[in-house]
Amino acid sequence: MPRILIVEDEPDMRRGLQDNLEFDNYDVVTTSNGIEGLRLAQKEEFDLILLDLMLPGMDGIDVCRKLKEAGSTTPIIMLTARGSEADRVEGLEIGADDYITKPFSLRELMARIRAILRRVHHDDQFQVHEYRFGEFAVDFDNLTARRNDRELEFSSREFEILKLLIENEGKIVTREQFLKQVWGYTNVPATRTVDNHIAKLRQKIEDEPDNPRHIITAHRQGYRFIP
Ligand code: CA
Repeated sequence: MPRILIVEDEPDMRRGLQDNLEFDNYDVVTTSNGIEGLRLAQKEEFDLILLDLMLPGMDGIDVCRKLKEAGSTTPIIMLTARGSEADRVEGLEIGADDYITKPFSLRELMARIRAILRRVHHDDQFQVHEYRFGEFAVDFDNLTARRNDRELEFSSREFEILKLLIENEGKIVTREQFLKQVWGYTNVPATRTVDNHIAKLRQKIEDEPDNPRHIITAHRQGYRFIP
């Protein structure tokens, strides 16, 4: 069971995160103080740290920096407020793996957590072989997909697109990444290929393909998957 440290001083936010993570079977440790967070992160083993930016004791940036300077490889997701805080985290090379701006949806945060854990853990439990979301079940090893009991017809390209999206759950996958990783291009051509395939995939898995819930457009960049 992955172990997560939450360093967050707002009680409602801390409790909300803890409840949701525990519900999803994570083992959770919390603290409201930056110094205590740093101490826990150095003393105990965690798979991931959710680190608020403004904290009593020591701010999140210093906690992150000290951990990375000490050689910690534990992934860190920074929780920031809108505007200047987000800019500060984005602009600084403090070694955080990701950051998310408050207010965020829990669905999106959970997706980012799963994506990071899959990326850093090379053990099997984090690799996508089979994946379920809503009424869908996709088996990437046997290339089958079902919605409830109905078999869906996906092309092999569509399976690869969906797999890449799911492996990056919650994060933007750029058109360039699709073209390199699914199509194997080294020099990426200007093409509507990715968008055309995404449109077809949406027809198969979205209830309203024009108002998608799972495969979300990131304006001018690419797409991201939300389960
Ligand atoms: Ca705070």
